[in-house]
Amino acid sequence: MPAMGKHAEDRRARLAAPRLARELKTIDVMLRISCRDRHGTAVGLCEECAALLDYAKRRLAGCPYGAEKPTCANCQIHCYGPREREQAREMMRYAGPRMMLRHPYLAMMHVVDGRRPAPPKPRGASRPAEPSPAVSALLSSPKR
Ligand code: SF4
Ligand SMILES: [Zn+2]
Repeated sequence: MPAMGKHAEDRRARLAAPRLARELKTIDVMLRISCRDRHGTAVGLCEECAALLDYAKRRLAGCPYGAEKPTCANCQIHCYGPREREQAREMMRYAGPRMMLRHPYLAMMHVVDGRRPAPPKPRGASRPAEPSPAVSALLSSPKR
C-alpha cells in the first residue's frame, strides 16, 4: 500500500478528533433522516445525498480552524459553495427539528458546540461569497 502523504494524514487525523468525528456523525444521521423521508431512500443514501456527505466530510477535514473548529453556523469563513450550501440548508431544515427525538445526544451536543465562541479567523483563510449552512436549524420548528 502506498504511503499516505502528510497532508492526507493530517486530514484523516483531524476527522478522528472526537468533536469533529461527532460532527461528521451528526451530518450523516441528519442526511439519512432527510434522504429517507424526502427522497424515499430505504437503505443508505441516494446519489445526491452521498455526494453531499462526501463534500461535507472534505470541508470538515480541510477546515482552516482545525481542532478549534466552531460550528459552521458560527463560522467567519463559510467555505461551502452555493449549491452545497443550499442542499445542506434544506436538509437541515427538515432533519434538524427531528434530531431531538431521534438522536437527542447528538442534537444536544451540537447545541453545546454552537454555544462555544467562534475562534478568530485563521490567518490566510479566505471567505467565499456565499455563507455556509446554518446548523442552528437543529432547534427550529419542523416544516411540513
Ligand atoms: S463553514 Fe467554516 S467551520 Fe464549517 S467547515 Fe467551512 S470553514 Fe470550517
Ligand atoms: Zn437523498
